[in-house]
Amino acid sequence: LHVAKTSHSKLVCYDDEQNNYDPDRLAMIGQLRAGIDNDELRLHYQPKIDQPGGRVTCVEALVRWQHPDRGLLSPDQFVPLAEQTGLIDDLTRWVLTTALRQLTVWRRVRDDLTVAVNISERSLNHLDLPQMVFDALNETGAAASSLVLEITEGALTSDPDRAGLVMQHLSGAGVQLSLDDFGEGFTSLSTLAELPLNELKVDRIFVQDMLNGPNDAAIVRSVVELGHNLNMTVVAEGVESAEILAALNELGVNAAQGYFFTPPLPSTEIMDWISANTP
Ligand code: C2E
Ligand code: CA
Ligand code: CA
Ligand code: CA
Repeated sequence: LHVAKTSHSKLVCYDDEQNNYDPDRLAMIGQLRAGIDNDELRLHYQPKIDQPGGRVTCVEALVRWQHPDRGLLSPDQFVPLAEQTGLIDDLTRWVLTTALRQLTVWRRVRDDLTVAVNISERSLNHLDLPQMVFDALNETGAAASSLVLEITEGALTSDPDRAGLVMQHLSGAGVQLSLDDFGEGFTSLSTLAELPLNELKVDRIFVQDMLNGPNDAAIVRSVVELGHNLNMTVVAEGVESAEILAALNELGVNAAQGYFFTPPLPSTEIMDWISANTP
């Protein structure tokens, strides 16, 4: 990232990839940096519901930003910016520590609960990601096996060797790994078989169209079979109806997640939802 002065002596900002001069963007970067320090980030949690039993053993943490004037922002409005500017490490560290600290409280009443945290493509290619994760585990006293890291398929294609190294290190310490948004990328079967993955998440675009087109249904069926053949748990995301859920159950998915059950909820509501809606 570079900061430069224009002829009007105004500070502007651009990065190498986008090369865009945009004062609003510079302001957002400063606000995000301050926002992370000032505890303006929030986590909402969305359960993964075991199929067919209906139990919840994992909740996924999804970050939001309570912006001082713009209200509650969704991750699409600021995570890409964090990735482009290097703020993503601070953001990821905050999410890991906050989610794990929360989990240790919940575990007093549900001792098998795990928490899933999304790891951006850029972080997965940092060799220091494992140390950041181990620090968060030590700081909060959470067990490595109570943490699931969700990695998008794109992270594997950009630098598969380095990503593989980072994943081996994490998995070797007992952290669970999940491949998010699976189906859109081009991970080769041999790469997939070599990586220490515990879970595959079927991308919601395939799940949502499963009853409309034969192709999407075929993709979901293949992903379920592939995951099971490689000894992974298969989770379907973006489940919005009972019909889709029934079709997924016929294919044998291990868990489902989506608005049909509940949208992501604040930490104060998620345990009540779980108690009221699951066995
Ligand atoms: P994702 O990991 O694929 O998360 C699923 C997204 O789909 C979430 O959006 C969730 O609220 C939404 N969703 C859940 N159920 C349904 C449904 O039934 N229908 C539809 N249409 N959507 C559903 P959200 O929270 O806005 O997050 C968007 C993306 O931002 C996430 O996609 C993830 O890639 C990223 N993200 C979120 N939190 C973090 C984080 O802490 N760190 C990083 N690096 N990325 C994050
Ligand atoms: Ca995810
Ligand atoms: Ca996903
Ligand atoms: Ca996604």
